[in-house]
Amino acid sequence: MSELLVSGGRVLRPDLTVERADVLIDQSSGDIAAVDEPGALAGDDELDASGGLVVPGLVNAHTHVAMTLLRGYADDKPLDAWLQEDIWPVEAELTADDVRAGAELGLVEMIKSGTTALSDMYFHVDEIAGAVEQAGLRAVLGHTAVTVGKDEEAAREDVQQSLDVAERLDGAADGRIRTTFQPHSLTTVGEEFLREFVPAANDADRPIHLHANETSDEVGPIVDEHGKRPLEYADDLGVLGPDTWIAHGVHVDEREIELLADTDTGVAHCPASNMKLASGMAPVQDLLDAGVTVGLGTDGAASNNDLSMFDEMRDAAMIGKLAAEDASAMAAASVVEIATAGGAELLGFDSGRIEAGANADLAVVDLDQPHLTPAHDLVSHLVYAASASDVRHTVCDGTVLMRDRDVQPFDEAAVVQRASEHATALVERAAE
Ligand SMILES: [Zn+2]
Repeated sequence: MSELLVSGGRVLRPDLTVERADVLIDQSSGDIAAVDEPGALAGDDELDASGGLVVPGLVNAHTHVAMTLLRGYADDKPLDAWLQEDIWPVEAELTADDVRAGAELGLVEMIKSGTTALSDMYFHVDEIAGAVEQAGLRAVLGHTAVTVGKDEEAAREDVQQSLDVAERLDGAADGRIRTTFQPHSLTTVGEEFLREFVPAANDADRPIHLHANETSDEVGPIVDEHGKRPLEYADDLGVLGPDTWIAHGVHVDEREIELLADTDTGVAHCPASNMKLASGMAPVQDLLDAGVTVGLGTDGAASNNDLSMFDEMRDAAMIGKLAAEDASAMAAASVVEIATAGGAELLGFDSGRIEAGANADLAVVDLDQPHLTPAHDLVSHLVYAASASDVRHTVCDGTVLMRDRDVQPFDEAAVVQRASEHATALVERAAE
């Protein structure tokens, strides 16, 4: 049995207090074996955390990891125009190899920024699963189904594929990969398909992940057509429940917040994307106050434009205060909570806390930096002052994925080079 000791640092405990402690990891099970006072534990291998803070690995609860290839390709446009004029035409040209190259780039970025789990929505999912397996991260993956603009047969095939991919890949990478059934949204998948396939997903105990209530433009048509709010419509279709989480939840009214709480449906809050696309301000403090499980997500790199959960935490705190018109809303502790334990709960992983028995998914943040001095409140620092580049080590499932900024599972320079080449060729093809 191999045991790894993360030693010499301070540790962020589940109650968000900080103490000097060592963390012992059982690498054969991938779990945290013990957390104890400095010097009390011993391992076969050591990871030096001196001058650092050991935090739970960050959980990116909503992303499209392969969209790194479109980073900076089209900015400064509203969601509808951005998707139809820029993103979808290029995505139509994406090959499986492109998706692999983009996914590897995104996963390297995640490892370098202390993220250990992600919930992804995309296509060519086998390529993403392959990249996740190599990366050593945890992920919830799925094939995203869209039926608008397709004939009946192609539409049906796409939704069926979402179910099939979820069944085939669930439990892959030694259980580090789980899956969801993924209707893209309540407006991009036709009602007849939702009526047919959502019960099938529920019968198969398949969790559901979809975009919902992202912009006001998508709320109006649902109210007009169905005479009810989007999440009431979703509830009638059987979409809501404890194994479902929606991405965004920006335009939700009081009844919908109650509905989310009553059905135990989660929300992946994506503040940077919501700001960049001017989608609106999610009432995230209200969601938390109502008892809704909330995670934090970057969304795709094309609408962010990075995958740093540190940036996302800062954004969540800032926009959460503006949305609530209250500077005490989305306090640092709440933000750290949604970026770790909240996200882990949505994704169904026993991660998000540094505690014996939990998955050994963690990051060590280097505190010995001018911009993190003095150390009055380290939880505050994580949200308001720390950056992705402050992460020194990243560990997932007991395996060291980055040691002293050196990414272990990939040749970082080769991944960057390949992604850059694929991105250039992709936009050239799309322009033809
Ligand atoms: Zn999204």
